[in-house]
Amino acid sequence: MDIPRIFNITESAHRIHNPITPDKLAALGAALRLEAGARVLDLGSGSGEMLCTWARDHRVSGIGVDMSRLFSEQAKRRAEELGVAHQIEFIHGDAAGYVADEKVDVAACVGATWIAGGVAGTIELLARSLRTGGIILIGEPCWRRLPPTEDVARGCLANSIADFLVLPELLALFGRLGYDVVEMVLADQDGWDRYEAAKWLTMRRWLDANPGDELAKEVRAQLSSEPGRYAAYTREYLGWGVFALMPR
Ligand code: SAH
Repeated sequence: MDIPRIFNITESAHRIHNPITPDKLAALGAALRLEAGARVLDLGSGSGEMLCTWARDHRVSGIGVDMSRLFSEQAKRRAEELGVAHQIEFIHGDAAGYVADEKVDVAACVGATWIAGGVAGTIELLARSLRTGGIILIGEPCWRRLPPTEDVARGCLANSIADFLVLPELLALFGRLGYDVVEMVLADQDGWDRYEAAKWLTMRRWLDANPGDELAKEVRAQLSSEPGRYAAYTREYLGWGVFALMPR
């Protein structure tokens, strides 16, 4: 079981697989007023940076589930490096339908809401692991500027404009789903650069080391086109944020 190999190649050097930066991840952890011993569930935990740094900084414990074998291994190594391996368990597996045995204080899905068919389904899934009074975290794109045409939306690698909402509409959606938005940390263009531009050097080095690989042509094409595509579309039109929610 694994995610498509192309992501394991292009994001192999990322600690955070999203446009949120280490300082914003720390700001989010502080904003949530986490207490020592709080339990956090993270579905689509990637390389584990959120759980590991929050375990170090706020002494939380928890579980991360991720389908990438590489990212899950990196997460375990990161936990050891930060001295929090006894607090955090990383499970390599499919997070679709994953419900924690013991209710958690924070149930998160940061940038992987497709695991339960979108924002609404993912909130429903996370709610099944959440204790009364707990907080759900959703990391999700929203339009920074509404694309003027469907072509522009596709330039952002969306299927259509309807894939994402503008920020006020996304916040209103959380309300319609029965949740108070109690905090948020938004990404900015510099954060997007850290996520997207970091792939380019990784791709270049991978190409130099793996010229005969079956994916070399695809990676070469991406490396040639991605900086221009990203600058013209994603960087201008797409926003992103992590939203903290409590059921009303
Ligand atoms: N939350 C992490 C990772 C976000 S990237 C961070 O912010 O750094 C999306 C993650 O979802 C990737 O790590 C990918 O491996 C994982 N993923 C994709 N499909 C999944 C699934 N069905 N179950 C669990 N993880 C999945």
